[in-house]
Amino acid sequence: MINKISIIGAGSVGSALAFHLLNKLDLKDLVLVDVLPGLACGIAYDLEDTRQFIGFRTQITGSHRISDIAGSDIVVITAGKPRQEGMTRSDLLKINRTIVEGIAVEIKKNAPESVVVIVTNPLDLLVYFVQKRLGFDRTRVIGMGAGLDSARLTNLIYQKTTVDPASIHSLVIGPHSKDMLPLLEYSKYNNLPITDFLTPSEQEEVSSRVTLRGKEIVDQLKSRSAYFAPSLACADLVASIALDTHSLIPVSVCLDGEYGVSDIAMGVPCIISKDGIEKIIEIPLDARIKKTVDDYNLSFRQCTIS
Ligand code: NAD
Repeated sequence: MINKISIIGAGSVGSALAFHLLNKLDLKDLVLVDVLPGLACGIAYDLEDTRQFIGFRTQITGSHRISDIAGSDIVVITAGKPRQEGMTRSDLLKINRTIVEGIAVEIKKNAPESVVVIVTNPLDLLVYFVQKRLGFDRTRVIGMGAGLDSARLTNLIYQKTTVDPASIHSLVIGPHSKDMLPLLEYSKYNNLPITDFLTPSEQEEVSSRVTLRGKEIVDQLKSRSAYFAPSLACADLVASIALDTHSLIPVSVCLDGEYGVSDIAMGVPCIISKDGIEKIIEIPLDARIKKTVDDYNLSFRQCTIS
């Protein structure tokens, strides 16, 4: 049984994530922290009242004191502003960098042995800044983004093919932004290449639509962003750590020579187990992947220098 998981930020993603974790894990302590007075506590009370239906024994705490995360095995950061209509991911950087770096200082003090999962956007830059601020091994600082993008690709492929969605395994790597790399050539239906089930124009359509899926949702919601699929993608990642499953999940991590780049973070396929990232999987770089990674490397550096 895993001991303690904390979620910092009890908004849309954080509260839905808490609910999924109660459904998935036999957990001793679940802590929700939010700066907004009463929010985390109210969400915790509401979650407690699901006990009869789900049957968990977890002690749930809602708090505005970040010190309540003390001794956590896993800490998830969902605190910060979501992207709103007209906002780019880089507009978010200024606001959310200050928030998550402040949180990183507290995690280092209160939960120095934890595996840290970051959800807040702009994801890859925040993985980079949080990892620097924490000083933890990079394998313990993991960004959830490419797993969501891959799930979104699965949905779009399903809509074209109507094959069993649970048997579609899609892969998106690269930055968690419109420059992501949907890799249909590595996406499968059972063991068969998914490209056998899609016409070239359908392949083009799903690849291009997935890169804008987050924006497509924000354009409709206006003042908030997606949270059902993001919270489930995050629960899947957290459960893989908690249950030591050794699952292959694409996540954002600081790279150190892998994919031909260093000192930047982006989504790559990784084996996930109890200590975080057990292994980074390198897939061969064709010309398209290499160009995207090189261009991204340059733009990432501009953001981290300024
Ligand atoms: P939200 O506004 O519903 O919730 C964010 C919460 O963070 C708020 O309740 C706010 O009070 C809290 N908060 C702010 N500063 C804090 C601090 N210092 N300590 C504790 N809590 C603090 O937003 P949301 O929809 O839950 O999204 C949260 C973040 O996740 C956003 O940055 C969003 O862009 C990002 N997101 C990422 C992905 C992904 O795939 N990586 C997907 C969806 C959302």
